[in-house]
Amino acid sequence: MFLRTAIAALFAACLVQAGPAQAQGAQAGQCPGNPNALGIARTVEIDTTGGPGFGFEQYKMHDFLLMKEVVFTFDDGPWPNNTRAVLAALAAHCTKATFFPIGKHALWHPEILKEVGAAGHTIGGHTWSHANLAKLKGDKATEEIEKGFSAVKIALGAPPTPFFRFPFLQDKGNLEYLGARNIAVFSHDLDSFDFKARTADTVMSTVMTKLERKGKGIILLHDFQQATAAAMPGLLNELKAKGYKVVHMKAKAPLATLAQWDDAAKKEIKSAGVGPDRPTSSVVRTVEEPAAPQPTAAKGPAAAVPVKK
Ligand SMILES: [Zn+2]
Repeated sequence: MFLRTAIAALFAACLVQAGPAQAQGAQAGQCPGNPNALGIARTVEIDTTGGPGFGFEQYKMHDFLLMKEVVFTFDDGPWPNNTRAVLAALAAHCTKATFFPIGKHALWHPEILKEVGAAGHTIGGHTWSHANLAKLKGDKATEEIEKGFSAVKIALGAPPTPFFRFPFLQDKGNLEYLGARNIAVFSHDLDSFDFKARTADTVMSTVMTKLERKGKGIILLHDFQQATAAAMPGLLNELKAKGYKVVHMKAKAPLATLAQWDDAAKKEIKSAGVGPDRPTSSVVRTVEEPAAPQPTAAKGPAAAVPVKK
């Protein structure tokens, strides 16, 4: 930890820079169909060398946000319906976030994770199976971290960003490993407690109340949660109305996953019987359903299958 702190201090001065993409964010009036879009106020590039920590809940080294600036982070996806609802809400505001997917979920729903990547969001890692790493011994914690990142890489078809969030924020015993792997660690400044919330209103009021008090922050949300998905359109509108600005985080360089763990993640796909190159729509398709009021026959491969009239 001491060594890590020393290394991190060395890089503190040049750690977070406003990237060249700073001016590319949507400005007012530049987001199609939404004159009141949040857009992106600025994009920052993070040098993850030495594994710097962010989010004042746990790590108080680097405070890079100005007053009224927020960073959105979403954990535990990708998940059907909810992740896509979050993506749609962010797209409607032409704004961007950082996602911390679970490795298993990434391999279950690679097509959804690819949509997250295609929309330009930043994608890090959140372990293979959402284990509490503080309770694991030795190599088991390493496996959770690395197999999680490898699963994201396989599902996404591209290297993940070296950004990591500990499940339950339990970082005990594993910070030095992440530092040696040059993976940045993200806690939060502001917890939405959306995993306890049952309604969109609860999520929104929790976030807005805390934000009004702190004035800025990295916000912890879950695209896994239905209430969060439902809250996002209203939350984004409210943030815009109150004058908040969105900062998008990127890494200076992508993460090089390790071949050993890429192989381990691939084995998990085989045992599941469905690969990331085979989206559900190509594995399961509707060949029979109650006749729709359309007289023309279906074209393409489906036409070869007898359809019940
Ligand atoms: Zn989580």
